[in-house]
Amino acid sequence: MTEAVKRLVAGTEIARELWLLSGNECAWPNCTVRLLNENDDWVGEIAHIRGVAATSARHDPSMTNEERRAYENLLILCPTHHEQVDKPKGRVIHTVSDLERIKERHEDRFRRALTAIAESQDEYIDLTRHSVVRPCKTLARFLPDNDHEERMADAVTVNRFAELLGRVTLASRGLLYVVVEHKGLLGVEEAARRNGCSPHRIFDLVAELDRNRLAWVDPDDDRVRNRIVLTKGFNHPILDGWDFFESLITFASERSDVALKDVIVGLDFTLLD
Ligand SMILES: [Zn+2]
Ligand SMILES: [Zn+2]
Repeated sequence: MTEAVKRLVAGTEIARELWLLSGNECAWPNCTVRLLNENDDWVGEIAHIRGVAATSARHDPSMTNEERRAYENLLILCPTHHEQVDKPKGRVIHTVSDLERIKERHEDRFRRALTAIAESQDEYIDLTRHSVVRPCKTLARFLPDNDHEERMADAVTVNRFAELLGRVTLASRGLLYVVVEHKGLLGVEEAARRNGCSPHRIFDLVAELDRNRLAWVDPDDDRVRNRIVLTKGFNHPILDGWDFFESLITFASERSDVALKDVIVGLDFTLLD
């Protein structure tokens, strides 16, 4: 006999681990909503991969109530994406295995950071920001037209640039990612709207990016108000003229299997190999 369905809340330990591996972001690919926002309001929602109630999304009658509230069956999403995966249409589109993959991919980024912190103290680790760079090796996919020698030299440049990215805060890298996603045509106010924060906060983040010569604000752009301009590589101490972001934008648009967020925010440069 199967037990009666009971809605048990996620235990504190499980909630803590979910939070720890969330990186304070909705698990949805490329969603940049902060779970704990600017005003310290908690907006995250613990979502079920397989729903609790018999009529809920992806409900699996063979599971026990304990299994339903187990770590493996939960992920944290923003309200928008939680609704999207649970509504009648969404629950058909977003299958159990889709959601499991989304959870895994998202948590992996932060799990890697935690593992690395635990294991060693090498130069790639930034204890305050939980960012670990995974350096590229061959750039075989990123620069397929270059010969081996050129790619080796470029890999050195890319890895130096990756280390620079690893030194800026997660929030600033998140912003950088959104700007790249918009092909460099995003303004401060629009970025604030998308991020659910104040323009002032965006100006602060850009200031950090500017200090690292990654991006700056152009108040005089005719197309976009207070446009956040990605560095072009000219005069950049590492890029030395190479328009790296432009190359990244092109690369990402040609590759459906590469999420730019995993490179810019997750610092996984092996995706370029
Ligand atoms: Zn739900
Ligand atoms: Zn989301």
